[in-house]
Amino acid sequence: MPAHMLQEISSSYTTTTTITAPPSGGLKNGKQNFEKTLRDLGDDIRPEMKEDIHDPTYQDEVGPAPKLEYVWRNIILMALLHLGALYGITLVPGCKAYTWLWAYLCYVYSALGITAGAHRLWSHRTYKARLPLRLFLIIANTMAFQNDVYEWARDHRAHHKFSETHADPHNSRRGFFFSHVGWLLVRKHPAVKEKGGLLDMSDLKAEKLVMFQRRYYKPGLLLMCFILPTLVPWYCWGETFKHSLFVGTFLRYAVVLNATWLVNSAAHLYGYRPYDKNIESRENILVSLGAVGEGFHNYHHTFPYDYSASEYRWHINLTTFFIDCMAALGLAYDRKKVSKAAVLARIKRTGDGSHKSS
Ligand SMILES: [Zn+2]
Ligand SMILES: [Zn+2]
Repeated sequence: MPAHMLQEISSSYTTTTTITAPPSGGLKNGKQNFEKTLRDLGDDIRPEMKEDIHDPTYQDEVGPAPKLEYVWRNIILMALLHLGALYGITLVPGCKAYTWLWAYLCYVYSALGITAGAHRLWSHRTYKARLPLRLFLIIANTMAFQNDVYEWARDHRAHHKFSETHADPHNSRRGFFFSHVGWLLVRKHPAVKEKGGLLDMSDLKAEKLVMFQRRYYKPGLLLMCFILPTLVPWYCWGETFKHSLFVGTFLRYAVVLNATWLVNSAAHLYGYRPYDKNIESRENILVSLGAVGEGFHNYHHTFPYDYSASEYRWHINLTTFFIDCMAALGLAYDRKKVSKAAVLARIKRTGDGSHKSS
């Protein structure tokens, strides 16, 4: 990469508006804390979005949990997909090398549609993207088939704002299985519907590309997640239809799904909490490897407005590398990065002592 590009990339890291991160600690002073946080964020590095800031004033109502209502269609489809993916594993050694490469490229591309697209761009607004990049990401996101961007972002903003309560769609307090995939197999908790429905989603409603994807989501996902990934190896280099379908499509799709789900399950259960010991999300290197940079999850919940979703830049973070490359091409801009000073102050105030600076 030319030196001026690298320089341009590194110069973006000098955004040093000092901000105070979401509050933590006792819920007694929660309301004051939350109001103070919003005040502190008044001139923060991302003034246009507040819906992903943790609201500690929201608590679960006491009383018995509502009965689980299974969604059998999802249970059956998810079971079939995973059986297909397991069979796909047995077919991997018999694939042509191009098919391996194709499945890997589809994995990286669709993962970026979630991480750089639905997550860092559309849910958190941590950077801005020009139309060609947004097109590239919305197609990738459709290949990932994890609900359309609008629904993904609504669930995700609720996950940040109401973390570890019943209004969090994949509440990790309900266990590993529920936060990993179980939440997709049952009807949403009434609190998710109630609180999720109140979130401000006007930015996405106003974005034509996001609404276009939502409108044509079914044909879009059939084409991008299933038909194209199967037809390309079969048609272009004479792979068998069986290998194309089970490796290029079912196995690749299941791997991306599970890598993403590990952020909700493993990265809320296993790992250190160097930035805020009062929240459940954790730093998990293995999750970062699989989910192309999304495992620095204690940092991410502490500073959801940071485009790197990590204190660091390219350290086990393919998504940040990708966004920086796009910035070098002029397709991404206005990347929000929390200052070192703000991070260190936060580590000192609320960290669990595991950070190397502690
Ligand atoms: Zn997030
Ligand atoms: Zn999380």
